[in-house]
Amino acid sequence: MASVADLPMTYISTRGGAAPVGFEEVLLSGLAPDGGLYLPAAWPVLTREDIEGLAGLGYVETAVRIMRPFVGDALSEDDLGWLCASAYGNFAHDAVAPLVQLDERHWMLELFHGPTLAFKDVALQMLGLLFARFLSRRDRRITIVGATSGDTGSAAIEALAGNSRIDLFMLHPLGRVSDVQRRQMTTVRAPNIHNIAIEGSFDDAQALVKAMFADRDFARRHALSAVNSINWARIMAQVVYYFYAAVRLGAPRRKLAFSVPTGNFGDVFAGYVAARMGLPVERLIVATNVNDILHRALSDGDYSAGPVIATATPSMDIQVSSNFERLLFDLHGRDGDALAASMREFDTTRRLHLDAAQRAEAARLFSSERIDGDAMARTMRWALGQGNMLIDPHSAIGLAAARRTTSIAPETPIVTLATAHPAKFPDTVERITGVRPTLPARVGALFERGEYFDVLPASFADVTSYIASRASPV
Ligand SMILES: *Cc1c(COP(=O)(O)O)cnc(C)c1O
Repeated sequence: MASVADLPMTYISTRGGAAPVGFEEVLLSGLAPDGGLYLPAAWPVLTREDIEGLAGLGYVETAVRIMRPFVGDALSEDDLGWLCASAYGNFAHDAVAPLVQLDERHWMLELFHGPTLAFKDVALQMLGLLFARFLSRRDRRITIVGATSGDTGSAAIEALAGNSRIDLFMLHPLGRVSDVQRRQMTTVRAPNIHNIAIEGSFDDAQALVKAMFADRDFARRHALSAVNSINWARIMAQVVYYFYAAVRLGAPRRKLAFSVPTGNFGDVFAGYVAARMGLPVERLIVATNVNDILHRALSDGDYSAGPVIATATPSMDIQVSSNFERLLFDLHGRDGDALAASMREFDTTRRLHLDAAQRAEAARLFSSERIDGDAMARTMRWALGQGNMLIDPHSAIGLAAARRTTSIAPETPIVTLATAHPAKFPDTVERITGVRPTLPARVGALFERGEYFDVLPASFADVTSYIASRASPV
């Protein structure tokens, strides 16, 4: 039955200035050398029969069918199947991403049954195994550096701990991530995991990481790589659950809408990819908190970055959404030169304008809502009262947006992506609902284990010499 699957898949850069490459290179390099993001040269399309054929398949088999055309000839079907089975075998729910019905119309897609209780595990568990496979095939080692405001760090650490070909240096802002989030990172003890608490903000940590990549010499010497959501393989792994959920709710016979709590535009872009691949999606709702650059861009064309406001949904406290560039590429008619010019302008002015035609094109699939803290809290209480469900603040932003959207046909089910387990944010959840969520047993004795991390000033010289003295030679 293999057809398109055995053909190589070619990837191009959104900025049009990089040679086309295959999946393995895209995974290992993350960012394209011209500063753009990689995308498939053409979207693979599933026929109606292909989608019907997903009915009744488990998550792992669905994952193989959806990822196969993107991986192309970089892995055999058996290899891909084995990696998917390993990646999703240790999720705490057999369905990996179970659907829970809230009322007649609203469903929650629970994406938090992985080891760190947030949806980032779905992609990073797979990414860790893909890195391991390709690095051992090439007999290479790399050094991954990243900055985290919480969820990405722990998901990356869980995915890469013990991997002898990768050193991971994860920077978090000292004292500015939640206790649960910090302990999920710092209690993992493995020789290749290095936690650094930076005396500064998340932006300071992020700026240090960017400066390390910009230092060509340092980057080459340590074979630096990244696992943030600009890595195409993360998006690819997230496309799977849109198909999985939709088929369970009647696709391709029935259309569906999805509401997605959004920060870097990675998760919701995966929904866009699913639609381009032929999944009948009626609407994708981009749900933002008060950091609403995406809502302003989609509703009146104003993509301009302001200061970041700290909220109860820290994983969405983002002003510049890196993956939005991938949508902008399509909205620019896939003209890499034109987009590169726009992005250069954005780098200096911090603003971009979407013209009427681009807005209309985006509006065929996307709508957006800005949800403030009060609306978020009301929705958490509504979910508890209505559906007897304790939901996390990020998922509540998504659900609030789903309930507010009026432009969806009444018979269309709306699936909200539940991106974190409520126990990841116990203080906020208790303050708002009066109920304190308990940590699942598998997360175990998080509060009894020792913590391992070093504190460094937000100084390029200090952090790079720390890394140089601890990273294994590449
Ligand atoms: C990362 C994250 C988001 C935002 O996802 P993006 O792909 O960046 O849009 C939303 N909710 C939670 C809990 C997250 O960890």
